[in-house]
Amino acid sequence: MSSTTNEAPTAPIPLLGKPKQQGRKGASSVGKTACIRTFGCQMNVHDSDRMRRMIQDAGYAEVQRYEDADLVILNTCYVRENAVDRVRGHLGELNRLRREGRVKKVALTGCIGAAEESTRLRETYNIDLVLGTHNTYELAEFVGLPTMRETYTPELPGTEGEHSAFVTIMTGCNYQCSYCIVPTVRGRMICRPLGSVIEEVENLVAGGTEYLTLLGQTVDAWRHEGKRFCDLLEAVSEVAPRVWFTTSHPSNMEDRTLRAIGERETIVKRLHLPVQSGSDRMLKIMHRGYKAERYRRKIEVFREAAPDGTLSTDIIVGHPGETEEDHERTLELVEDCEFDSAYIFKFSPRRGTEAAEAPGTVPDAVVGRRFLEVLRAVEQNAFRRNQRKVGGVEEIFIRHGATEDGKAIGETWSGHAVHVDTDAAPGSYVTAKVESAGPHVLYAGAPTG
Ligand code: SAM
Ligand code: SF4
Repeated sequence: MSSTTNEAPTAPIPLLGKPKQQGRKGASSVGKTACIRTFGCQMNVHDSDRMRRMIQDAGYAEVQRYEDADLVILNTCYVRENAVDRVRGHLGELNRLRREGRVKKVALTGCIGAAEESTRLRETYNIDLVLGTHNTYELAEFVGLPTMRETYTPELPGTEGEHSAFVTIMTGCNYQCSYCIVPTVRGRMICRPLGSVIEEVENLVAGGTEYLTLLGQTVDAWRHEGKRFCDLLEAVSEVAPRVWFTTSHPSNMEDRTLRAIGERETIVKRLHLPVQSGSDRMLKIMHRGYKAERYRRKIEVFREAAPDGTLSTDIIVGHPGETEEDHERTLELVEDCEFDSAYIFKFSPRRGTEAAEAPGTVPDAVVGRRFLEVLRAVEQNAFRRNQRKVGGVEEIFIRHGATEDGKAIGETWSGHAVHVDTDAAPGSYVTAKVESAGPHVLYAGAPTG
């Protein structure tokens, strides 16, 4: 399971394996090099995968260092201000390299590309191409490929690695949470047709992909031609050897889906359900559309359906107007739900959102203390829960091959992250005994099978 952190809830996962060629070669770019840097969530990691395929089809070789690249693509996040500060730092560095003639072109894509901020950045840093999340496909023409009209098509699948892949099932978001810039930069919800998703999943599985992650801002809000998210999840689980989904909204999460997680063998028993606060007063101010009690009931259904499963959440501390009593309610909810991990964020004002103008700013020192209190409560629970796994024998899916210390990183069917003593290849399964556990990860010995 992911660690408790103040980073993006869906932190970038290292890319493994080489994307497959799609046969849409661009002759003009042969011999050129490109570097892609990704900031933010898994949606961005996935969009970067698609751009990676485009540049490879156009004949660019991918390089890791800016100074070796003709084209640099910064695929960005706008959810919190510190993400924007980081991108500004990279743009400054790229300007210097461009003046020295070491980088020729710079493209800014992703959520900052879709925000007003991009106009100022374009002027300040002489950016050559700015694309938002809605028109990522226009990169194709920029790198000399035939014009594309859509980003998410089965013909341009995105991969995390050969053995695991992201599949976008919806884009945008129809909620208007007080603090969140996502609806502004990613637009309203658009759901991909079931047939298009299944076609992409079938292609990926036929190509050897073992692990599919269904992606979207609120995947459980997916609807299309009378079908709902659970229908789509069940259909994918019939085809995919292993499937997970992220991220979900408590208002859309149906008990039927929670039960399917427990019942269907190919669905990983892991739920990421962002709660944001344990206080009904704050949930109302945030426009989340549910009360803490309803969230608790959902968790009860999940725990009953998948008692061994893992549960993670997102929590914001220090939203304007948050009192000590509200904070206490959050701590209570953390105790009651016994999260296996949580992404805890200090509130960051985003221009254009309701919360950025709201009264009741919480002093930094108070935010810092509340952050640590929530973190401690989550970690204590997670540690306790992980101890229950010690001594058990688990079937582990290897996600990342062994590093220098001889440990590979895998995942159990319950969704726990495990360090395993093995040189097994990514995409394979091993069976091993869990020997110890920390708050974020389990440690298994050499495989027994
Ligand atoms: N759609 C998902 C949901 O509603 O649960 C979350 C998407 S958002 C990109 C990921 C997380 O970032 C949110 O769940 C929230 O906890 C956090 N977040 C969003 N805006 C924020 C802000 N202005 N300050 C701090 N955290 C923020
Ligand atoms: Fe942002 Fe709320 Fe939409 Fe999630 S549901 S993306 S937090 S507006």
